[in-house]
Amino acid sequence: MAQISLTFPDGNIRNFDVGVTPAQVAQAIAPSLAKAAISAMVDGQHWDLQWPIHSDARISINTMKDDGPALELIRHDLAHIMARAVQEIWPDVKVTIGPVRDYGWFYDFDRAEPFTPDDLGQIEAKMKQIINARDPVRTEIWSRADALAYYESRGEPYKVELVHKIPEDQDLRMYWHGDWQDLCRGPHFQHTGQVPADAFKLTHVAGAYWLGDASRPMLQRIYGVAFKNRDDLKAHMTMLEEAAKRDHRKLGREMNLFHMQEEAPGQIFWHPNGWTIYTTLQDYMRRQQRRDGYVEVNTPQVVNRKLWEASGHWENYRENMFIVEVDEEGAREKVVNALKPMNCPCHVQIFNVGLKSYRDLPIRMAEFGSCARYEPSGALHGIMRVRGFTQDDAHVFCTLDQVEAESKKFIEFLAKIYSDLGFDKWRVKLSTRPEKRVGSDEIWDKMEAALANACMAAGYPYELFPGEGAFYAPKLEFVLTDAIGRDWQCGTLQLDPNLPERLDASYIGEDGAKHRPFMLHRACLGSFERFIGILIENHAGKLPFWLAPRQVVVASIVSDADPFVEEVVTALTLAGVRAEADMRNEKINYKVREHSVGKVPVILAIGMKEVEERTVSVRRLGETRTETMTLEAIVAELSAAALPPDMR
Ligand SMILES: [Zn+2]
Ligand SMILES: [Zn+2]
Repeated sequence: MAQISLTFPDGNIRNFDVGVTPAQVAQAIAPSLAKAAISAMVDGQHWDLQWPIHSDARISINTMKDDGPALELIRHDLAHIMARAVQEIWPDVKVTIGPVRDYGWFYDFDRAEPFTPDDLGQIEAKMKQIINARDPVRTEIWSRADALAYYESRGEPYKVELVHKIPEDQDLRMYWHGDWQDLCRGPHFQHTGQVPADAFKLTHVAGAYWLGDASRPMLQRIYGVAFKNRDDLKAHMTMLEEAAKRDHRKLGREMNLFHMQEEAPGQIFWHPNGWTIYTTLQDYMRRQQRRDGYVEVNTPQVVNRKLWEASGHWENYRENMFIVEVDEEGAREKVVNALKPMNCPCHVQIFNVGLKSYRDLPIRMAEFGSCARYEPSGALHGIMRVRGFTQDDAHVFCTLDQVEAESKKFIEFLAKIYSDLGFDKWRVKLSTRPEKRVGSDEIWDKMEAALANACMAAGYPYELFPGEGAFYAPKLEFVLTDAIGRDWQCGTLQLDPNLPERLDASYIGEDGAKHRPFMLHRACLGSFERFIGILIENHAGKLPFWLAPRQVVVASIVSDADPFVEEVVTALTLAGVRAEADMRNEKINYKVREHSVGKVPVILAIGMKEVEERTVSVRRLGETRTETMTLEAIVAELSAAALPPDMR
């Protein structure tokens, strides 16, 4: 029999028969390894223990100690096990798809009655039975005709549709968990008992359109989370509880920051309090950009499709664009425009006005650019995922030789901003050349080295994500970790030789000839809307004093104190503090409670004793004790605290 050679992580090479499976490879190494094995990596691809290997490859055997593959299998097998449990309890329910997601998985079902919390408990119990039965998992490749016949006979219209969608040249793989079958790419565990039975939980049900298409049936999506052990699950559930308490939609109501309504889905009505956060943050960002050598511009919202055709957005991004057709005077047909989904093509238009020389580069062009993107309604989430938003966007036009220095400069810029905004934990991801790409290897080498060197020079080592770059250039992504351990990708730096080419941007080089500039698309916060959502949740509404929309409430204890209350408010306001009076005829405890729910950081209570002594009784958010301070001392303290970190 023909042989193949497999290279192991320690460099050892061993020969096996063609078609050997990782299960057999593990057995050949040691029976204990075969027992512990859950899957393999074959040339970097996650590989089922049952799949044959047909050519020379690098191989490593995964066990439960390998977190990435272990968690992927746990969550993926649970998706199948949940679907099986649902069909065992309610045989009429139709199954659709069930992918793995952060911390767990979901599966979409077509069922007339809604799933109730009791149903979820019943499904969980059934899932545990399936796990404890240790049912074998097996897999086969099927023909298209067999798969169609099978799903048609079983009355599974969604699966029939899925089979039709799979490209002709692709194998149809089937998986069985016990007798229950699903169409699936795999890989999977070897038997259901490999899934930890006490480390998963079904969390909730939500509506979701089939294939995300609002004209198709509304399905029920059951979400689950799963981990390697009970402690990890517990920690996650605690985090979720904490996250629910901090939910920016709930705090947004309590702090009266914003609202959203049906007439403008995915768009925000900012109330005075929320808009104060927004403009304070924007003023801060504007100062940082000025200091770092950016010029600020502003570009149109409604732009003719011709520009989007030239930039490539019309072809590749149209389903996310809001199209605006206008009866332009004298025109035979309607003029087709789009609301801008991004600012880049407009910035190139500004670059293209007038001749640019190499001496003009780099040009750092910033815009707080309001963009509109059509997001399916199911994807919308508070102010974090919206249809109308403003990016802290900028494009750096430069030469390839300048990319490294510009990237380093940006990383340092972003590090200072994240630190000022209270995020000290963040990391950098470097995504490099994908298989399908344009441009020579020589250019890719230079582009990747420029970004990698910039990270190292700035003192921030990167994590490498091979193959994850755009088809035209590598990128950096910056991921924040918030106070309860959640990750948020906010900053990006995307290198781009492509758009300047498409939109014919050029500069005159030292040699007197025309050259194409490179572009760096970069954002630090991402969008103001989403970042404010992150800030609110990170700080649980208790924003740093300079960002708090209502900084101080001065509350009277008796109405005779009113004139002094007004004097204190005026003194604070003149000192640059956002202060307001509360002279309602209510008990002081009532006032304190109400303003604490509104997350006002400082409440100053004033009774007759304070009036006589010209002092205030200071109560800080989260503390029960009060302290007495003179008017001068509290004004001095709070006016200093109200200064943004860059102005102290
Ligand atoms: Zn699967
Ligand atoms: Zn851009």
